Amino acid sequence: MRHIAIIGSGPAGYYTAEAAQKAFGQDVRIDIIDRLPTPFGLIRFGVAPDHQSIKAVARRYEKVALSDNVRFCGHVSVGQDISIAELQALYDAVVLATGAPHDRLLDLPGSDLAGVYGSAAFVGWYNGHPDFADLDPPLDGRDVVIVGNGNVALDVARILSKTVAEFDDSDIVGHALAALEQANTRRITILGRRGPHQIAMTPKELGELGRLEAASPRVDPADLPKEAADAQLEPGMRKSVTLLREYAVIPEAHRATKKVSIDFDFFASPVEITGEGRVEAVRVERTRLDADNRSVGTGETYDIPAALVVSCIGYRTPPIEGVPYEQGRGRFANEQGRILPGLYCVGWARRGPTGTIGTNRPDGYELVERIFEDIGAEDMGAGSGKAGRAGLDALLETRGVDLVTFADWQKIDEAEIARATSGHPREKFVNVEDMIGLRGD
Ligand code: NAP
Repeated sequence: MRHIAIIGSGPAGYYTAEAAQKAFGQDVRIDIIDRLPTPFGLIRFGVAPDHQSIKAVARRYEKVALSDNVRFCGHVSVGQDISIAELQALYDAVVLATGAPHDRLLDLPGSDLAGVYGSAAFVGWYNGHPDFADLDPPLDGRDVVIVGNGNVALDVARILSKTVAEFDDSDIVGHALAALEQANTRRITILGRRGPHQIAMTPKELGELGRLEAASPRVDPADLPKEAADAQLEPGMRKSVTLLREYAVIPEAHRATKKVSIDFDFFASPVEITGEGRVEAVRVERTRLDADNRSVGTGETYDIPAALVVSCIGYRTPPIEGVPYEQGRGRFANEQGRILPGLYCVGWARRGPTGTIGTNRPDGYELVERIFEDIGAEDMGAGSGKAGRAGLDALLETRGVDLVTFADWQKIDEAEIARATSGHPREKFVNVEDMIGLRGD
């Protein structure tokens, strides 16, 4: 028997568990540990609430979760309730699948003003993450600035500009929907420090901005490179840039029928955030590209009014004491997923916050090949001498940790579905104590 602990119950964690089941067969016991009582990480808290088809992948993880040799251990905080060293003493392999839930910081003068958020907090707010449910972002102003040209910037712009009716079928939390309904937003500026050929936006997500009921995208034709240059782009990027070209020729008469304008401001890098007590404007420097397509400031600056700023410039994996870490890339230092003997990482914690949810599948399978090389080679029947889940339970009991099982989560899940209002698949609980209270005995 081999014992594997996976820390983090998001896509990378579940794909790793699935791969370990296949590689080790009945000779493995896998515990998936999560700080929260709810499984699936990014699926629940990162994927946009109006992207339900992407969330459907959770059914695949559920199949893994319900198998005999896999267990969900929710509401257990590694670092507080149990240390990595203790887990290593109990399990043959400990896998960090902790994702990248912290923001890369927008380190500018004024970025600590009220009304300035990183996307982890803002996305967490509308997705009902318990850490951010009370964020209460100011939506009273007409102007919002979003920093970054990736898919998260698009998610945030779309959520801020949808009508209430457009959230039917979504699992956006009630507090966010109510706040968005009252919002005064009229102009959302998306700042890109480079140009249309350097965006990190995929066509499906960018295309959604062109089909909004009450909002219309605007691109300045002068920012677009010559059309012939699009030929050198890979097909996905070419599609995205084609969409930007379409947005550049939307007639003013059509745009005038929409309440919200989503303005792409390319070659624009924020240099300061200003305001008295709360954000009032973003000072932006015009940029140009150097020979290596890096952005270079031109010295020309201008101000964009903003009552809310959301910086969507990427994420970081939080470091864990004693675990080697690469500061620059915001992930654990690793060699193909190996960190130290018996300690591994996978998904965004291994490679940084890139790729789609599906990218985590090969990532998990490849990591399990390494783990199998390290601990699966021979004599699994004899056991490894590690205590595994029995040891974890004993330790957590002495510490009074209230572990949440997958069956407990299913009760929370049922209750969320039962209290959904019409059109919505669920109404999430946002308070950990409320969720724990639902378990019964
Ligand atoms: P991202 O794709 O890495 O984009 C980050 C953006 O921020 C880039 O445009 C980058 O510009 C810009 N940026 C970085 N530092 C900056 C700074 N100091 N000032 C101004 N701009 C700065 O990150 P993301 O949008 O957070 O997405 C993370 C991952 O999740 C991506 O793989 C994304 O595709 C994925 N995702 C997918 C979906 C979906 O499929 N529906 C939805 C959301 C997220 P430079 O290029 O100039 O560095």
